[in-house]
Amino acid sequence: MRWEWIGLAAASGLAAVDLALFAWVGLDVGGLSRTAAGAMVLGSFVVGYAALGWVGGKLWSARQRARAHRARIQAQLEALEDSRARLAQAEKLAALGRLAAGIAHEVRNPLGVIRASASMVQEAFDRGSDDHRACDLIRDEIDRLDGLIAALLTFAKPTRMTLGETEVGPVVERAAALAEEATGGLSVRRDVAPLSVRADADLLVQVLLGLVVNAAEAGARAVTITAAEGEGVLRVEVADDGPGIEDVDLPRLFEPFFTTKETGTGLGLSMALRMVEAHGGGIDFAPRGGIEGGARFVVTLPAAGPSRAVEAA
Ligand code: ADP
Repeated sequence: MRWEWIGLAAASGLAAVDLALFAWVGLDVGGLSRTAAGAMVLGSFVVGYAALGWVGGKLWSARQRARAHRARIQAQLEALEDSRARLAQAEKLAALGRLAAGIAHEVRNPLGVIRASASMVQEAFDRGSDDHRACDLIRDEIDRLDGLIAALLTFAKPTRMTLGETEVGPVVERAAALAEEATGGLSVRRDVAPLSVRADADLLVQVLLGLVVNAAEAGARAVTITAAEGEGVLRVEVADDGPGIEDVDLPRLFEPFFTTKETGTGLGLSMALRMVEAHGGGIDFAPRGGIEGGARFVVTLPAAGPSRAVEAA
């Protein structure tokens, strides 16, 4: 409505300027307005201008509305595309999970037999001999494969949550203490406001512990965990002073099985993301936004817990 009035006012102003110009070039505008026919001509002149201004304003405001609609539709299309991509990714992961679980079960039993046989055969060799060492190697490698299979099976299992009102402080404390114990020598600073969130406390500990251990494995000596809440969203940041993340690795970071470590499974971040998404949240990261150019991961969670739709998914 505003643009119609602006158009009307501008056109009326223009009509007044035109009338002033007529008078300036010698037309007797005053005299004209005193005759009935002249007044009609002048009146229709001004009204015509004003109507044009009104219509112009209306067209402008329709154009503005169309632009706003276009932007909204564009945003909705992008959101739709985003959720379609997520769905495709979730389906891919589910299929991969089923496949992994199937293979894992098939492989685990023979591995157990090979391990037991290696132990038996080892007894026939002298301690310190090459053959004895070879059996040790077989067992170590089988243990490593078994660890990978265990990770695969956990990955393949759907995320089960037990939601409850969860104090953030103790969750961060547990994750930090476990990480300090597991890594030895890493110092984890906690900066957590007294907050609570509707979540599965154990899963949150697992997510944060994974992020801190990743930082240590990347070479960080110090990690800071910060938790704060704003507009109903809990943000937990894990910032480290490690080397940061290489640009080439960024697109694949959350992909299952992507790892740059010799003995990594590449399942940590993808599982963490799955657990956080099951809460209706997300994980963001800044490759060099941590301490002195280290990495920073930000877990966001709706303080009120997942929506019914997310919870049911
Ligand atoms: P994994 O730990 O088995 O490699 P993840 O999914 O947890 O699997 O991590 C994937 C990769 O992401 C890691 O191999 C590493 O290259 C990179 N990464 C994760 N966290 C960090 C970090 N804090 N600093 C640097 N690189 C990281």
